[in-house]
Amino acid sequence: MLGGMQDWPLRIMRLLDHAEREHGPREIVSLYAAGNTERTNWIGVARDARRLAKALERLGIKKGDRVATLAMNHARHLVAWYGTIGMGGVLHTINPRLFADQLIYIANHAEDRVLFYDQAFAPLVEKMKPHWKTIEHYICFDPAEGSGFEDLIAGEDGDYAWVEGDEREPAMLCYTSGTTGHPKGVLYEHRSTVLHALMEVSTDCLELSARAVGLPIVPMFHAAAWGMPFAAPLVGMKLVFSADYTPKVMCDLMRAEKVTHSAGVPTVWLAMMQYVEATGEDLADLRVVTIGGSAAPRSMIRFFMERGLRVGHAWGMTEMSPIGTIGAPPADWHEFSDEEQLDYIARQGRVPFGVELRIVDDEGAVLPRDGKASGRLQARGPWIIERYFQDESGPAVDAEGWFDTGDVAILHPDGTMQITDRAKDVIKSGGEWISSIELENAAVGCPGVAEAAAVGVYHPKWDERPILLVVKKAEADVTPDTIREHLGTCVAKWWLPDEIVFVESLPHTATGKLLKTALREQYKDYKLATAA
Ligand code: ADP
Repeated sequence: MLGGMQDWPLRIMRLLDHAEREHGPREIVSLYAAGNTERTNWIGVARDARRLAKALERLGIKKGDRVATLAMNHARHLVAWYGTIGMGGVLHTINPRLFADQLIYIANHAEDRVLFYDQAFAPLVEKMKPHWKTIEHYICFDPAEGSGFEDLIAGEDGDYAWVEGDEREPAMLCYTSGTTGHPKGVLYEHRSTVLHALMEVSTDCLELSARAVGLPIVPMFHAAAWGMPFAAPLVGMKLVFSADYTPKVMCDLMRAEKVTHSAGVPTVWLAMMQYVEATGEDLADLRVVTIGGSAAPRSMIRFFMERGLRVGHAWGMTEMSPIGTIGAPPADWHEFSDEEQLDYIARQGRVPFGVELRIVDDEGAVLPRDGKASGRLQARGPWIIERYFQDESGPAVDAEGWFDTGDVAILHPDGTMQITDRAKDVIKSGGEWISSIELENAAVGCPGVAEAAAVGVYHPKWDERPILLVVKKAEADVTPDTIREHLGTCVAKWWLPDEIVFVESLPHTATGKLLKTALREQYKDYKLATAA
């Protein structure tokens, strides 16, 4: 007989089993919205997940049923994830920052049967209740009179065996925030999630280990907190959660818990940077920072690198579980000058094993990886979407399995990928493209600028010209001229915005990105002085 290896389905619960068995006492710390800190560990999470799985069965939840959460990051939320997946359910994380009609749509579309929610979102839940047609059980995570999460699991013992099945079974459902049209559901599978976790812990990705203490600042409802709640048990990492995003609270928590690794979108890091700069605080034990979700400005990368941290600039999307690329120092890193190191990390990094990328032109012809051509970015791999959840319009990929990301990118000969824009955000001036991302990030590098958005407005001669909307830092002495002067040192002259407009604030999506659709709408009739 030919020999062979064992069939060991890549099921998510094996991650938790491993952590419970091999790293049981490693802590999970949660700072709750009420200000109390609670501690458990992998043994506690596994025990409570089994109790919750039993409780869900008692409620009549069956394999494949959707169980939703509307919550910030904390250990009870983590228990709800594993308890649901462990009993064969499909966990649906709802983003509380979505618009009301999106919230109504996704819970109904997902046919959620249970909702776990934070007390902080109780008013939202009350408002939505009449519209949510399928939710039978509402369970509050916070201690509530007789009907909360703790009461639900209180009567259950931990004697439970996880529901088994094929590794291709669904485990989790995440909706894209859908800046246009209805949000679309992306169904993560056991296998895709385990493979993503295996990749994510690796040195050139998040560099997680049993020694690491990770604080995912990215919410658990944003593409599964970028997979960290699955990667953490794989290595037995200590996890720290915070429901409070105030920079001081986060900095104090990082120091107290000796956080070494953290990940979040640029907007939260921006607030953190401003706090650190204003107070002279340091970042304690923080060593590896992952920035993703939108382009990390060069000034932000510099801020962390100057303080001796390793910055991983990551690109991905809900449809990709979410990691597509991430930056890490290459072999010849020490021969790079400081500026070259910054240039390198400012790009969106390289693919890990498991992701393939290519760029194509408008006709679908594959473009070279020469660091010059830019085209639509396509991806394929075992944790990349094939078809949206309950979507009758067919597969989300072409015949060869390529998924069109909607991003425009350049692939460099050294393997790095550089996002120039979202296809719908590029500014087309005189037939050439101006990268709104590059303009914005260059602007944020100008002293006194807190945030900036570049949008294209109509111009009779050039079709579109960029204007730049700028939010100043508090009490900053900055003028359109100083910004223009600074931009002149970073980008081509013809990219310089025709006008620079100061605004009080900029609109953001539910995941903290600039809401370009709203800005385009708001400025669609903007009359440029240069167009007169
Ligand atoms: P949504 O579309 O719902 O906001 P995602 O969080 O999945 O949700 O967003 C994915 C998109 O975010 C990508 O297609 C890309 O446009 C953008 N993005 C993510 N990371 C980066 C990055 N590092 N640089 C530039 N853009 C990024």
